[in-house]
Amino acid sequence: MTEDDFDDDWDFSPFGSAAEARKRALLVTAGKPAHSLSPIEIFELVKNSVHLEKFVPLALDLIEAGRDFDLGPVEDEWRILERQHEYFRQHHNQRVRFERLSRNRYSLRAGDVGVYRKCGRCTDGVGELKNLYSTKEAALSAAAKRSAATSLRLEAYKCPHQDGWHLTKADRV
Ligand SMILES: [Zn+2]
Repeated sequence: MTEDDFDDDWDFSPFGSAAEARKRALLVTAGKPAHSLSPIEIFELVKNSVHLEKFVPLALDLIEAGRDFDLGPVEDEWRILERQHEYFRQHHNQRVRFERLSRNRYSLRAGDVGVYRKCGRCTDGVGELKNLYSTKEAALSAAAKRSAATSLRLEAYKCPHQDGWHLTKADRV
């Protein structure tokens, strides 16, 4: 084996080569046409902060479309996206999308136990009608589920218009 076996930009070392090869593989993946990428590839790129401007919106498209994907036992799509808070700080529209998707996901879960309906009056930050829970316990139970899967701390408060309870972010300023 001679030095000519290595490309000039292949900074070969016994320790750095695996990481370097992995980075290259990610960039090759990123260069493929978007429609040919699998959901797993798209979330892998977001996880590794590759071209976030392109791949975060695509990841949100997948969630919005209700695509089913299994990213493995320790990762899920919400955690991968949540870790890109710097990106979301700079991209308001995508952040609103992500927050709305997160909210809908867990309201659907809460809906499984049949304890909420939509409030006729109160809306949330993106203008959607808020979930109205029949009891404070039901609201807190939904809050616990949602908090367990996100970094949000939620509080229950009495609806000023109807008989029931809403949730709001505890750390909202
Ligand atoms: Zn209300």
